[in-house]
Amino acid sequence: MLTSMAGRGRRAPVVWSPLTREHRPGAEVWVGVVTPGSELPERVDVIRTALEAAGHRLVEARPHADDTLLAVHDPGLVAHLAEVHDEWMAGDYVELVGQDRVVPYVFPTDAMLGGLPPRAPAAVHARAGQFGYDTMTLVGAGTWPAARAAVDCALTAVDLVRSGEPVAYALCRPPGHHVTRSAYGGSCYLNNAAVAAQALRDASHRRVAVVDLDAHHGNGTAAIFYERADVAYGSVHVDPGAGWFPHFVGFAEEVGRGEGEGATLNLPLPPGSGDGPWLESVDRLTGWVAGLGADALVVSLGVDAAADDPESPLLVTAAGYREAGNRLADLGLPSVVVQEGGYHLPSLGGLVAAYLEGHAG
Ligand SMILES: [Zn+2]
Repeated sequence: MLTSMAGRGRRAPVVWSPLTREHRPGAEVWVGVVTPGSELPERVDVIRTALEAAGHRLVEARPHADDTLLAVHDPGLVAHLAEVHDEWMAGDYVELVGQDRVVPYVFPTDAMLGGLPPRAPAAVHARAGQFGYDTMTLVGAGTWPAARAAVDCALTAVDLVRSGEPVAYALCRPPGHHVTRSAYGGSCYLNNAAVAAQALRDASHRRVAVVDLDAHHGNGTAAIFYERADVAYGSVHVDPGAGWFPHFVGFAEEVGRGEGEGATLNLPLPPGSGDGPWLESVDRLTGWVAGLGADALVVSLGVDAAADDPESPLLVTAAGYREAGNRLADLGLPSVVVQEGGYHLPSLGGLVAAYLEGHAG
């Protein structure tokens, strides 16, 4: 145990990329109204500044091939995100309506299709709704390079853990945990945490646990691994049944299916919950992960459960995040920590630093 104790207390390396700043959503369309978005490039700056000040080493993300990305996502979604903004700009949306972001307006749901297979739509503004499931998640000129760079941040953090770092942190932006195999949404475009979990599996870890601390249920990660036993997904989040995103899923009754039965654990909390019930849920998640016999950990670190955050009604403190980091560190597993949400710029960097101080070595 001396070697693991010796590692305790060291600062996790921070993987980042300047490209992650290039995504500028411009706005969100919510209930038909254009509102200013909160998933801003400045999130990268405040987190990086706080972690540098806390003594973390910065590592620039290295480019990685698409294999792992294509193992968790439909190649059609990946190609769509890479190309759709160029196609949009080749149309006359800017001249006609002044819109230079890709915004869907019609969604080919199962209920709309009535059992018929969807045709590939000719119009770009229709195709936008084939792969995007909400109107809040707009695609601009810098979206693809930023989202792809965030994947490289996650994969570089996996490389660091494979080469012996006990914990590595990926400063991913845009976040990713709402992206399913074939659809993006919830201010997310590519699922960085799912890619990290798959990469750890490919690196011969037998069972990977994803623990999601973001205020919102990570419906994308949950869906990608719902029928798999080799990647488990556990989450504490504000109760979608109380009216919160992602609304339709994220309930306690969802436990996985087929081979994945028992490998999903959802712990919804009522709005207004603070450190006490939140940390009790974190304890349930760590006990569950230990019982599964996982040999590697991915943490989806959203810090939007914090009291100051404008996007959720949970009331967790920085001390709560530090303690959550401590308890997850007690699992003693090689850990890749992936940035998800967190939108209150004045406190964002300190919350991430507090978590990583807890989850040291
Ligand atoms: Zn969130």
